[in-house]
Amino acid sequence: MSAAGGDPPTARAPYTCPSAPANAGAGLIGVLGPDGRIHNLRTPMTVDADFLNAAKAAGPPEARMRFSGTCQTSACVQWTGSRCGVIDRAMEALQAHATPDLPPCTIRASCRWFAQTGPKACATCALIVTDTRIAAE
Ligand code: SF4
Repeated sequence: MSAAGGDPPTARAPYTCPSAPANAGAGLIGVLGPDGRIHNLRTPMTVDADFLNAAKAAGPPEARMRFSGTCQTSACVQWTGSRCGVIDRAMEALQAHATPDLPPCTIRASCRWFAQTGPKACATCALIVTDTRIAAE
């Protein structure tokens, strides 16, 4: 993996999806703060069905938290054929500037977005909410 994002990230596996569905066994990687940004956990945490059932009482967990799972590559609708399209579109739309200090992250070593794009992905990552239904309301 290249921190500069220079390696083709296509077939090598497994990468970790940083915007996965809230399924039992997923990793909880960050929580939406009142500032509208995702604040990453510093310690890995795996969620179970009880956690998710409690979280769903307040609406879709993916609207308030970010979860990780195995990147599904071509089995995911976000796969462009060679990479994950989510981070590319988000970077284009949000134009976040990378900072010298990377945010804490429990999945960076295997993160699909970091493998594709490097530190620029981390600057945009904090602005991405997986499920925007609540925000849209
Ligand atoms: S883009 Fe950066 S901060 Fe976001 S999950 Fe990947 S490595 Fe972590």
